[in-house]
Amino acid sequence: LVLFLGTTLSRWLTRPILAMTRAARAMSRADVEVLLPPPADDELDDLVNTLDTLRNQLAARLAELRGEGRKLRAIINGMSEGVALVQDGVISVANPAFARLCGLGGDAEGRAIRDAVRVPAVGDAIESALATRTAASRDVQLAGRALVATVDPLGETAAKQAVVVLIDVTEPKRLERLRREFVANASHELRTPVAAIVGVAETLAAGAADDPEARSSFLEILMRHAQRLSRLTSDLLDIARLEAGYKPRVEVVEVDRAVDAVLGTLQVKAEPKNITLEKKLPMPERVSAERAAVEQILTNLVDNAIKYTPAGGRVAVRAETRGSRVRITVEDSGPGIPKEHHARLFERFYRVDDARSRELGGTGLGLAIVKHLALANGGDIAVESEVGKGSRFIISLPVAA
Ligand code: ADP
Repeated sequence: LVLFLGTTLSRWLTRPILAMTRAARAMSRADVEVLLPPPADDELDDLVNTLDTLRNQLAARLAELRGEGRKLRAIINGMSEGVALVQDGVISVANPAFARLCGLGGDAEGRAIRDAVRVPAVGDAIESALATRTAASRDVQLAGRALVATVDPLGETAAKQAVVVLIDVTEPKRLERLRREFVANASHELRTPVAAIVGVAETLAAGAADDPEARSSFLEILMRHAQRLSRLTSDLLDIARLEAGYKPRVEVVEVDRAVDAVLGTLQVKAEPKNITLEKKLPMPERVSAERAAVEQILTNLVDNAIKYTPAGGRVAVRAETRGSRVRITVEDSGPGIPKEHHARLFERFYRVDDARSRELGGTGLGLAIVKHLALANGGDIAVESEVGKGSRFIISLPVAA
């Protein structure tokens, strides 16, 4: 009986201790839902209370950590750069941008890095970064885009963990190429008239100035190239001003008056070619834009129309309001522009017929300036043209309230 009572008593006494041991083990596994024995008004109450406080603190810390984790995940997911954590050659964490930049349809997590990034350079960079414990970076071409991949080893040498960041540099590279092309084109364009002016001036100085006939023909060449140089520098300065963050001083511009001013100035160019300039404005259209910009847009378009239209032709300017926009059209009866050139017409120095443009004194910058001005003034530009059927340039600008 003593043995039986002793065993029962000891079981009864150790039950709460066993329950607390179980609870402490569960807490060590971050399980904070575990039940603690109820208080029994004895010496063990203190221990139960301490365990309860510990459990509550653990629960609060865990909730905090989960919140931090969610925040970090949201930041990584919101990044436009691709970020991935690679462990033993497998992607353990990756943001959606990483999958997108790799050209993957679905998620990148769980895939082998060499399978997700289908250029060996990135896998090789990871291995070299892990071996040397220094960051590595590679320029790669992936899914049709130019990327810079940087790899940073993480943690201890044995960890074999690295962070891979993919940065899309397609657009900066394209802009850099355009800038380089522009500088090369501009220097080439400037070199021709400058060389001609220097050559003619040297010839004149060497004695040609004494012969009246030679003098006048050389002076005429000098004048032509000086004018070309002046047009080029003025257009280049315009482009530079527009690209340096031009902000239009918007005002209410009466299209009718702007068209009159432009046609009035360009009449002298139309007359020798017997080209009729027409204005067809049914309503007193008003746009919200910078007056000088509207006039320059019209000047460049009408000037081109006169330049490329053969003698006896016709150039018409129309305007009409459509909803919140005013469409201004400059139409000519000239040779038209083949469709394949339409998309590139507004690029700097793009010409359909190089020789013809130069012969007519073109700089190749007129339409690029027009497009810049139209966009900066809240508008846009389009071209409609067919070979043999004339050209139509359509500018749309915001209507004035
Ligand atoms: P350019 O100074 O050479 O005229 P632009 O930028 O003004 O340069 O025009 C680009 C090219 O577009 C011209 O070289 C020309 O080939 C073509 N173009 C522009 N306007 C017309 C037009 N009204 N009719 C035919 N071709 C045109």
